[in-house]
Amino acid sequence: MHSSVQFNIGDISMGGDAPVVVQSMTNTDTLDVAASVAQCERMIANGAQMVRLTVPTMKEVDTLAQIQKNLRQKGITTPIVADVHFNPKVAEAVASFVEKVRINPGNYVDKRVFASFTMTDEEYAAAVARMAERARPLFRICREHGTAIRIGINQGSLCDRIRNRYGNTPEALVQSALEWLDICEDADFHKIVISMKSSNVQTMMEATLRLHEAMRERGEVYPIHLGVTEAGCGVEGRVKSAAGIGALLMMGVGDTVRVSLTEPPENETPFAHRVVETVAKLKPEDAVVKDQTLYYSASIEDSEEWLISASAMAGYAYYNHHIKDLVLQNDKVSKEALVNLQATILQACRIRMSKTEFISCPSCGRTQYDIQSVVAQVKERFANYPGLKIGVMGCIVNGPGEMADADYGIVGASQGLVCVYKAKEKLTNPIAIPEALDMLEKLIEQSK
Ligand code: SF4
Repeated sequence: MHSSVQFNIGDISMGGDAPVVVQSMTNTDTLDVAASVAQCERMIANGAQMVRLTVPTMKEVDTLAQIQKNLRQKGITTPIVADVHFNPKVAEAVASFVEKVRINPGNYVDKRVFASFTMTDEEYAAAVARMAERARPLFRICREHGTAIRIGINQGSLCDRIRNRYGNTPEALVQSALEWLDICEDADFHKIVISMKSSNVQTMMEATLRLHEAMRERGEVYPIHLGVTEAGCGVEGRVKSAAGIGALLMMGVGDTVRVSLTEPPENETPFAHRVVETVAKLKPEDAVVKDQTLYYSASIEDSEEWLISASAMAGYAYYNHHIKDLVLQNDKVSKEALVNLQATILQACRIRMSKTEFISCPSCGRTQYDIQSVVAQVKERFANYPGLKIGVMGCIVNGPGEMADADYGIVGASQGLVCVYKAKEKLTNPIAIPEALDMLEKLIEQSK
């Protein structure tokens, strides 16, 4: 059941009773027009109904326009979304031609340098007022061109002002969203989509549901974009995404979804469609919760449908019944596969950490090294450290913040080089990948 306002983004209907829209993001360099067009085409052929591209600087504004023009010349009308961080001028420049602009309130005007400070209420209000003032030209351009704005809030990139007042909590995400909704509504701008992302499934669900409730109380529910950030890849990434996105869709919340996998982006959309279709058939009463254990029994042969069903049911029960254990039964699946899936779901929901947790971003045009191969190497080499969280992130601009709760991390720096992190502390200058992996091993072994 959807209760959000409905509007068009390009020729796609979003919100209200429109079907859930599946979208994805390129990981090509936006300066490389041919590669980006080709990847957009592959993603669209695989079911992407909206395609996002990163626009890190003014240089990419022109190439994004060319990419969009090339696609339109090929008769492809899929809405294009510009992903903008740090630079309001870039958002204003792209807003006149793309169908949607994603901005990150954590860095649109505010800063995130992990500084600790307190602000008086007056200082706090003045900072919000400055942000509203700076956002005004964007609203004007978007209104003129019918462009939508996604207010894309990420736990890993909350600004220092919000973090210092509300902590690194779901409430901080909600407050960041609400202050931007105030800013938009005060400017009479309503073509808004909003997302509350975290690599922690519980945080992502809680923040989204609290925001949904808050919007209902305020009287206007805007379309919600669902996603678990840095979900990783393979089975783990799919389980995390299905648990968070699937559970929220089961609760009737969510108008558009993006599954983020550290894999070619064209892998994301078939799985995302599968989540939407599978979850539509699930009913919470198909499982039983007893003594904080979820018992879910089904007869499902298709492995992807089974993974999604079990993960979404568990995510739902975790949020609503605070389950502490999970027992799966499926007569079409081997005992070993059942036990593995149970462990992966419990880990994804952070109910029981029985293996290393890997946090890795899907990468985007900011990534300058082969992140997919590094993730594979890291997963193989550091598989058996239960409870340890290792991040592998595409870029130094957003990576360190986005993997904020990882114990160690490898973060892309310049061409082919990475930096090693211990929590938020950068330990190295850019170094080669084999050297970074050796250093990571030494650090982890030393800390045992
Ligand atoms: S952290 Fe990854 S997805 Fe996010 S901006 Fe950097 S490279 Fe792109």
